[in-house]
Amino acid sequence: TPLDRIRNFSIVAHIDHGKSTLADRLIQSTNTVAERDMQEQLLDSMDIERERGITIKANTVRIDYTANDGLDYVLNLIDTPGHVDFAYEVSRSMRAVEGSLLVVDASQGVEAQTLANVYTAIEADHEIVPVLNKVDLPAAEPERVAEQIEDVIGIDSTDACLISAKTGIGIPDVLEAIVTRLPSPESGDPDAPLKAMLVDSWYDPYLGVVVLVRIMEGTLKKGDQIRMMQTGAKYGVDRIGVFRPKMENMPSLGPGEIGFITASIKQVRDTKVGDTITHEKRQTPEPLPGFKPSQPVVFCGLFPVDSSEFEDLRDAIEKLALNDASFSSEMETSAALGFGFRCGFLGLLHLEVIRDRIEREYNIELITTAPSVIYHIYQKDGTMHELHNPADMPDPSTIDHLEEPRIKATIMVPDEYLGDVLKLCQDRRGIQLDLTYAGSRAMTVYDLPLNEVVFDFYDRLKSVTKGYASFDYQMEGYREDNLVKMSILVNDEPVDALSTMVHRDRAEMRGRAMCEKLKDLIPRHMFKIPIQAAIGGKVIARETLSAMRKDVTAKCYGGDATRKKKLLEKQKAGKKKMRQFGKVDIPQEAFISALKMD
Ligand code: GDP
Ligand code: MG
Repeated sequence: TPLDRIRNFSIVAHIDHGKSTLADRLIQSTNTVAERDMQEQLLDSMDIERERGITIKANTVRIDYTANDGLDYVLNLIDTPGHVDFAYEVSRSMRAVEGSLLVVDASQGVEAQTLANVYTAIEADHEIVPVLNKVDLPAAEPERVAEQIEDVIGIDSTDACLISAKTGIGIPDVLEAIVTRLPSPESGDPDAPLKAMLVDSWYDPYLGVVVLVRIMEGTLKKGDQIRMMQTGAKYGVDRIGVFRPKMENMPSLGPGEIGFITASIKQVRDTKVGDTITHEKRQTPEPLPGFKPSQPVVFCGLFPVDSSEFEDLRDAIEKLALNDASFSSEMETSAALGFGFRCGFLGLLHLEVIRDRIEREYNIELITTAPSVIYHIYQKDGTMHELHNPADMPDPSTIDHLEEPRIKATIMVPDEYLGDVLKLCQDRRGIQLDLTYAGSRAMTVYDLPLNEVVFDFYDRLKSVTKGYASFDYQMEGYREDNLVKMSILVNDEPVDALSTMVHRDRAEMRGRAMCEKLKDLIPRHMFKIPIQAAIGGKVIARETLSAMRKDVTAKCYGGDATRKKKLLEKQKAGKKKMRQFGKVDIPQEAFISALKMD
């Protein structure tokens, strides 16, 4: 395909503004998929993604389109994840395309992720076409929203497409806008030495590792001997093709094109996103700059509720790791929870997604322990080591000092919510670095400890700003602070999986909050249960869960036997989700819920 007939683009939007529906409509209206194969949200393939309405891995589709000028075009859409956990991956995949459709719900206006995502597109030098969606809704105000896009983002919106992805209104205009307003790929000599970007890779149970590539220069053909320039690995290309959105084989891919290859690559870990793919025999003299790998920043323990499922869990984790290079794991033993794994994630959503997949796809019930960041422990003997798990904290008397990771967070928010945002950041030990205004929106920059952010900061921010805040962060490095390990004792037994690292000045407050939460989460037993928070040997907070008064089935006396049986069965099912600590049953949800600060 000649370069001027190719358009590569992504769609950026706040969640629920209609990105997936628009993608479906583009696919459908160009007959890319036969009508009988059409199902909603073609690009969101994993069940969890569908249910949560998020796209985790970048997906791609190639669309053939005959434009009003009578010429045939190839449109390549890369769908990107929309959550801050994956922000870095979004920015990487956007480097593979030249333009973006900016979809904004015309009944809602610009929202949190609209900003974060559009700035990523601007940073990638994209040409941007604003698309106002949901004009079929009575509440739609396309003029007001077009103005808002100009004011807040600074993009000319006079020619925004007005569409309804649901009913199909305006879809032809979007296709024309892609052809006439987005640029074609810049350069690219088909006879030059091969230079291709490794955009993404994933594990396919039938094909092994599939690599998504964007050809910059040269031509890639089936049977070619290729070299990954960063890893130095050599492979023979067995299969080459495009997504429509199903895989379809092609003999070759040329400059500007996006497609996949398979090459008997064993694991996703053997591929590096951003790597340059070239021919073994005729290498490009200028590799692409490459990207830093996504590093796990949040760690937590995953333990099977039923300890006999440990081997199944190992198996599940190994399989998931095949497909996700940013997910790490190592074996862990806990006095309270037995054998499990300490796993690393890009953020909390990533953690939840993996946990849900293990529970659903592998049918293993899990106990998840408190998420933690990586601390640097400097010991008195001059050595430093990383702490991934508060339970492994060495004797404090051997420690010289502790450092924790900090981030630089940028938050944009409408004026009226600024006060609440500043308070939230202050409560999380934030240090304000900057505060500026753009129209009625304020932008503030904070230096924050990562451990105060990984847990529920994003949820809190969304709730205090009704979803109108945009939040983005980058890692800033490590800094010393007065951090201590807080232990939780239930019925005088320490529960190692509930240990957390806290700032000394906040320990009492956090300890009290955790004890109160646990008191609500742990069911009553036949005896009273003390719940305590302690630092070293010193108790800093305490609650007592009083004993159960009556047999729960008592109220069924005189009632029919099936009701009583049902109640007992329900209790039994509930029990399965519990873990015994000494004489006390603790429900699995307690390990995460106890930490939520609200
Ligand atoms: P995404 O999160 O941006 O991918 O959003 P989706 O495409 O999943 O759409 C979110 C919701 O908005 C779904 O319930 C869609 O059916 C609905 N939706 C999408 N486009 C339109 C539209 O043009 N009009 C109306 N009324 N609803 C729409
Ligand atoms: Mg979607």
